[in-house]
Amino acid sequence: MSNLLEKEVKLEYTKPVIFFNCMRCGFCCEHLIKDTQYGKMSIFLKPEEAKWFPQEKVLPQYAVGVKGHSRPRPYHIFAFQLDAMVCTWFDRQKRTCMIRNMRPMACRAYPVTHGSIDINCRFIQQYASEENQRININPASIKQEVAADQDVLNYIKESMKDQGTLWGFSLDEKKWKVIASRPVVKPTIQIPKFKVPSLRLP
Ligand code: SF4
Ligand code: SF4
Repeated sequence: MSNLLEKEVKLEYTKPVIFFNCMRCGFCCEHLIKDTQYGKMSIFLKPEEAKWFPQEKVLPQYAVGVKGHSRPRPYHIFAFQLDAMVCTWFDRQKRTCMIRNMRPMACRAYPVTHGSIDINCRFIQQYASEENQRININPASIKQEVAADQDVLNYIKESMKDQGTLWGFSLDEKKWKVIASRPVVKPTIQIPKFKVPSLRLP
């Protein structure tokens, strides 16, 4: 009897392997702004990608370095974001991206974002709610998204190299916040490895 119960408990907790399959619902393109621990943020854009969007809607997202002692602020902006809930390239009637073949790297990565899976993705959410927000995705089915996200992370890491403080720009407060900082090191001292912080989205 106890063996049978153990077996039942194990079966109950076995998570099914899910094959990621984007439904092309367009939900992610209509809900760009999300809550993060640093305030509201939107789609990550490299400087060259930011030029594809209406400039009045493009705001900074990440910056490195510090200038000014009395009022410290970022020195070099290296990533931008779109201050809009619905992407300007989203065709709401056809429910498709008008620049799909050249869409930004972060769009290619979604629902993988900064090393996490965004459970707001409609495909992910149908499993996340059943599985108490813990899901088991087949890695092969999401490897292109993971690779694109890795490109984003590598770009952030490269931009932060030897630059000290990392800043993030909050869209709701319209102000910069320190995400990570490290002490200034003299060139003769070995520079410690600086891990890219995980900016987990809910
Ligand atoms: S929300 Fe998820 S399923 Fe829908 S289009 Fe975006 S990535 Fe695909
Ligand atoms: S660029 Fe295309 S894929 Fe990216 S958010 Fe806009 S509509 Fe969606």
